[in-house]
Amino acid sequence: MKNYIDGQWVDSSNGKTLDKLNPSTGELLDKFPASTKDDVDRAIDAAESSYEAWYNMGSVARGKIIREAGDRIKAARSELENILIKECGKVKVQAAEEVDGVLDQIYYYSEFARKITGDIVEGTTSKRKIFQYKVPHGVVVALTPWNFPAAMVARKLAPALLTGNSVVIKPSSDTPLTAEWIVRKFVEAGIPKGVLNLITGKGSEIGDYIVAHRKVGLITMTGSTETGQRIIKNTSANMAKTILELGGKAPFIVWKDADLENAARALIWAKFWNAGQSCIAAERVYVHSEVKKKFMDIFLKMTGEIKVGDPQDSAMGPLINKSAVENMNSFMAKAREEKLQIVAGGKTPDLSGKLKNGFFFEPTIIDNVPQNSPLFQEEIFGPVVGVHEVKDREEMFKLANDSKYGLASYLFTSDMNLVYEASERIRFGEVYVNMPGPEASQGYHTGFRMTGQAGEGSKYGIEEYLKLKNVYVDYSGEKLKIGTVPGF
Ligand code: NAP
Repeated sequence: MKNYIDGQWVDSSNGKTLDKLNPSTGELLDKFPASTKDDVDRAIDAAESSYEAWYNMGSVARGKIIREAGDRIKAARSELENILIKECGKVKVQAAEEVDGVLDQIYYYSEFARKITGDIVEGTTSKRKIFQYKVPHGVVVALTPWNFPAAMVARKLAPALLTGNSVVIKPSSDTPLTAEWIVRKFVEAGIPKGVLNLITGKGSEIGDYIVAHRKVGLITMTGSTETGQRIIKNTSANMAKTILELGGKAPFIVWKDADLENAARALIWAKFWNAGQSCIAAERVYVHSEVKKKFMDIFLKMTGEIKVGDPQDSAMGPLINKSAVENMNSFMAKAREEKLQIVAGGKTPDLSGKLKNGFFFEPTIIDNVPQNSPLFQEEIFGPVVGVHEVKDREEMFKLANDSKYGLASYLFTSDMNLVYEASERIRFGEVYVNMPGPEASQGYHTGFRMTGQAGEGSKYGIEEYLKLKNVYVDYSGEKLKIGTVPGF
């Protein structure tokens, strides 16, 4: 694959590449450019010199191009689904769901083409007005993760471009091919030269340089909290605004009056969807003691039915890479050290043929996890979940809120008083009551604490890509009297 800089598909300036492996088999899938600082400079320069004309084109014309990109993605969607299966190990149905999500984001944001507004405010004396315009930030740098490599790219490109910004996107080094395919569709749809640029390469090598670049106005990044912290430090150099969608550690509460079957089904989704590699994944299950045994029986039975293997015909595919499997093994080592009860899974499954070299891990449940265990404090980001019994409301709220992360949370109950109380007391950006996720385009995806800053989706998400500018106008035609400066 290639970079896309200033309207040209090009290799990295020094010709170096990195390998992308297929996570189901460990085989080489493709090579992608290991971009240099020089590539970064060229991409940012192109974005900077093209953004004014793009902004002046007007939001309605930009919206048409973004919609057209959606139509082109829709027409060729099976290609994107296949890339997601091969590059990311998505199982078939989830690859299709992700493409549905991509289209939903693109069409949703394109609808804002006629909804960008400002204010006209009265001045402090007569015949004066203050025009408050919403204008783009200029050059936006988009940094995307690998777990939803298509949806995250769409969720950043569509609003950034619609609002008149130009973009340099650097996708995860685990999923460059998905990003390339989507960028090609935006280019085919008519995005002018220079407005959208794609560069690939290791964040550890070029990331610090991109985010601190003096020509960058906004950085929108989805990824780990550690990378987010680094970006905050580095943007002290340019004061660029940051949208940071970071880690999660969702509590999943099953109260004594819950529909246990529904709760277990939702938990299967919330934990094992995308092999647990989701920022909104349930990572801490709190079950009321009165229903714990019954709930665990149902949950264990459902978990045992999950078929792990080839993404083409399984319910759960591989993890993204070898180090993700090592990470699961290290959580299991901690669980064994703490003498916790591993009641399902706990190891790499025994698969045959090419899948033997893939990066798989069994759906795993660990019972009676103490609150201070690393399993309940650190983001696992894989198919491993811990369970803890709770007895009263106060304990439940205390434990659920006890996390440095604050993205998604789940509550299953039929007690409406508890629902209202939880809406206020659960300090997470998203509370899913009696339902699984994921978030909707018209919702504002945001988190408390170390989950980051700002958010994406809804009218509030669009606003993040715009800056409010004030123009003061005197239209009286009278000679100015500046009373505080004697003589004028
Ligand atoms: P990551 O390692 O933090 O990487 C995210 C992106 O940042 C990648 O493109 C990465 O490039 C780049 N990057 C790495 N170092 C950088 C640096 N110093 N400066 C600038 N950019 C840098 O995260 P990930 O492993 O891809 O994704 C998993 C994490 O994302 C999890 O913590 C998950 O919870 C979070 N996530 C959050 C949300 C949300 O909405 N809150 C959604 C999805 C995922 P390389 O790949 O080349 O390193």
